[in-house]
Amino acid sequence: MRKFALALTLFVALFSVICLAKPFTLVPWPYGVIALVQTPSIDQQQFVDDATRAVKDVFSFWDLPVPAPDTNWATPTQTSSQAWWNMAMQHPEMLIGGGENPFLSPMQLAFGTAYPGDDPEHELIVPYPVWSGWKIMPLTLGVFPSGESMNNLVVDYTFSASFGGLAGYTMLRSERSWTEDEQEILHLFWDRSSIIMSAEGDKSSLSHEISHWAAWLWCQEHGVQLFSLPRLITEGFADYTADSLTHDDSWRTIGAAWAQQGGNLADVPRQLLYEVGASVISLLVQEKGKKGLLEMLADPTVDWSKEISSLTPAWRRWLAAVSFSTGDLARYEAVLEDLALCNRLLAPVLPQEAYEVLKRLYDGRGTIQDIDHFWDLVSQVPPEPSEEIWQAMIARIPSFLIVQAQDSDPDIRMVRARLEIKLDKYSSNHDWKDFYETFIEGLRDVVAHYGIQKATDAN
Ligand SMILES: [Zn+2]
Repeated sequence: MRKFALALTLFVALFSVICLAKPFTLVPWPYGVIALVQTPSIDQQQFVDDATRAVKDVFSFWDLPVPAPDTNWATPTQTSSQAWWNMAMQHPEMLIGGGENPFLSPMQLAFGTAYPGDDPEHELIVPYPVWSGWKIMPLTLGVFPSGESMNNLVVDYTFSASFGGLAGYTMLRSERSWTEDEQEILHLFWDRSSIIMSAEGDKSSLSHEISHWAAWLWCQEHGVQLFSLPRLITEGFADYTADSLTHDDSWRTIGAAWAQQGGNLADVPRQLLYEVGASVISLLVQEKGKKGLLEMLADPTVDWSKEISSLTPAWRRWLAAVSFSTGDLARYEAVLEDLALCNRLLAPVLPQEAYEVLKRLYDGRGTIQDIDHFWDLVSQVPPEPSEEIWQAMIARIPSFLIVQAQDSDPDIRMVRARLEIKLDKYSSNHDWKDFYETFIEGLRDVVAHYGIQKATDAN
């Protein structure tokens, strides 16, 4: 999952659903299907080219074989839904896995994977790419018009792109009821082999998600569940890959600032997992080489919590000599307070000036005073908003729980629970001033609470 990207989240009116035949268009691409959800405004060919390039770059970076497209990838076959199901149902024995292929069940191998066809009577059978000698599940790459429409659909504003399948998780977690169209969209991304992102997403976040796909394939082939590894390692792997490809090494000063304050790898705050994770992966690559790191990921006998703890002294020594510019320290503080997430949670009402301050901070051009300036700006209660913006803000309340669930501090649970009760009460009373002030209190306490450890303490 990519939680960082600071795209200017223009608040687009929440998708007013126009009744089209289908709420998405499926476009074949060499590695599966690109699902254009609610017609994002992108240059389709350019996007396919960029995504194809990103796959090649990521796999090549790790010296992994690049998935080979099926010769018929551009022309998936349509088949009658009834005939497809009849065929599948005649072989119930195939439903019970147990095949040789680590990626596909015997049934999927025999009958293909069905995507929604042009009409309810038809299924689209997308050919399987081949990777490392195996047929693999096609990658479904979903593109939404905006982060707002994507986050709103899954009732989770904590990420800007995601790999790994979300429909089941989303539907279990949330009390929201979805329209038929929305359910159809969610089902597209049910499988692990899927990415969702917004048309505003940048190349780096695309590479980050594709890195998760590469790591997932690699681990799966060796019988290791990628998602059972610590997030420090999985997110670090993805960020290290994407940052290397875009020549962004801001993780180094962020990791070093944490290290020089006595930070421990066994207890990395949620907000720093990505950058500190990238520093850990970089160090492991330096010690073992890319091949050595990949072997470690695919080794089920590795005790990661032990490895991570014992790595701390070498990691601190390695980053001890890094020095910081003013901009580096201010960016570290911004990341530590997760201001990128504050930006996403406040997007419908965020003043332009506050956005400019954030941009400066994340670009490494800010100062530590900019942090206080950001909080001053967002602490001023904006004028009573339209009903649409009210709803967009209310839709963000469950994100506090998602953030808290990833936090190791047990006291935050009660803080979050009290906050949620207050936000629910003020929103049902349509009490904007109290709602907004409580919302900001939530950002400070639940999202940014590590901000009490000021970066200026670093030497
Ligand atoms: Zn990620």
